[in-house]
Amino acid sequence: MPHSSLKIENARYVITVDPQRRIVQDGSILIENGRISRVGKATELAGASADRVIDGRRMVVTPGFFNGHMHISYAHAVRGIFPDELASPLKHVFALQAAMTEEEEYHTTLAGLLELVKNGNVCFVDPGSTKFPDACLQAYEDAGIRVILGECVTDREAPWALPRYSTGEAISRTSSFVQKWDRRLEGRLRAWAMPFSPDTCSADLLRGAKRVADEHGTGFTLHHGSGPQARKDSQARHGFSPTAYLESIGVLGSNVLLAHALGLDEAEIECIARTGTAVAMCPSTAAKGGRGVPEHGRMPELLAKGVRIALGCDSPNNSNYLDLVRAMNMAAVQYKDARQDLRQIPAEAAVEMATLLGAQALGLGDELGSIEGGKKADLVLFDTHRPEWQALFNPINNLVYSADGRSVHTVIIDGRVVVDAYQQSFVDEEQLYPKVQEIGERLQARTGTTFPRSRWPIV
Ligand SMILES: [Zn+2]
Repeated sequence: MPHSSLKIENARYVITVDPQRRIVQDGSILIENGRISRVGKATELAGASADRVIDGRRMVVTPGFFNGHMHISYAHAVRGIFPDELASPLKHVFALQAAMTEEEEYHTTLAGLLELVKNGNVCFVDPGSTKFPDACLQAYEDAGIRVILGECVTDREAPWALPRYSTGEAISRTSSFVQKWDRRLEGRLRAWAMPFSPDTCSADLLRGAKRVADEHGTGFTLHHGSGPQARKDSQARHGFSPTAYLESIGVLGSNVLLAHALGLDEAEIECIARTGTAVAMCPSTAAKGGRGVPEHGRMPELLAKGVRIALGCDSPNNSNYLDLVRAMNMAAVQYKDARQDLRQIPAEAAVEMATLLGAQALGLGDELGSIEGGKKADLVLFDTHRPEWQALFNPINNLVYSADGRSVHTVIIDGRVVVDAYQQSFVDEEQLYPKVQEIGERLQARTGTTFPRSRWPIV
């Protein structure tokens, strides 16, 4: 049961991400009815009492993390099956996803939620992967997490097994989905329009889906990429670059989140900034997939133009982890190396993208993303009594360059403790893990997906 009041007392550091970017040493936080009512020095809050008090003496407290692009569903059951050198796993990804049953998706979703919350993710955008939201609703509710869902739609031929409809049906399905799901779970569930990509959706479908998002005051996300070849192709087909094409058909704007967004040129960055469009970037997917961040990664330029960027983990079979602390690390180190310039993506910028900027990118920045009086209480408590946190002088540097999600000790969402001293209570992990393994075996057999298990002999 949620406590009506909760206090975190004497935290070693509170990384507030407030307008002054204060880091409060020896800080306390008071939470009442799901919201942060006070945050400050422990001495200032010494007189404040609460139904439950958490001892924060060994904790670094941060706002919860926002995962801006994270395909939940099939992948946990078949994690790691794709060999490194497989050019594109997408054909297999969509075949496996299409073959999931309702019961299977419920269990793999539980596995995904476990990994998300245990790593401090308080919210994630599932870009249309979930086929059976009715079955998964209970899992979201039990986990206590915030989730942004949508129905994946396309109306064009694609090389993969994507759900394809007539343009009209794709728009009406999007509309029905938003009407049915948006703002459920006391507002923790948001439903967005989620057409798959500009290549697999007609301009009419993209326009129609954007209209649905606008009419319902909700969001719109789309896979998006550019680059020299893509610009050439798009110029020939539409007379615009990939990004200018989206603007020309009216589907950029403040409620739009473009996923990946690699290969943008100056004019495209300008277009994204001018239209107030947000971006979700997946640094570990870009690195693991050999996408060429030195040539195609434009995170520093997007940030410099004030574009709201969320970090994403893409999927357990792309990055292949759901740990946003590791994604922060990748964002911060990747651009220093790519540009041979140590000023690129400071650790503080990585923390901003995982928290406040990420929340803003998802349209949730007014209520979430920082530790300030009046905001909803979504917090992560990191345990510093671990070797990777020694010694501690700069909590930002230790968080981004030394720690990972394993030191997430306690997670609070909407004022409710969902991970309590490393323990969660929404699923029996010992029962779940063999089940997920069994689903993976069945799924590969059913879809005829066979890869060598390992380059090394498993004997
Ligand atoms: Zn995706």
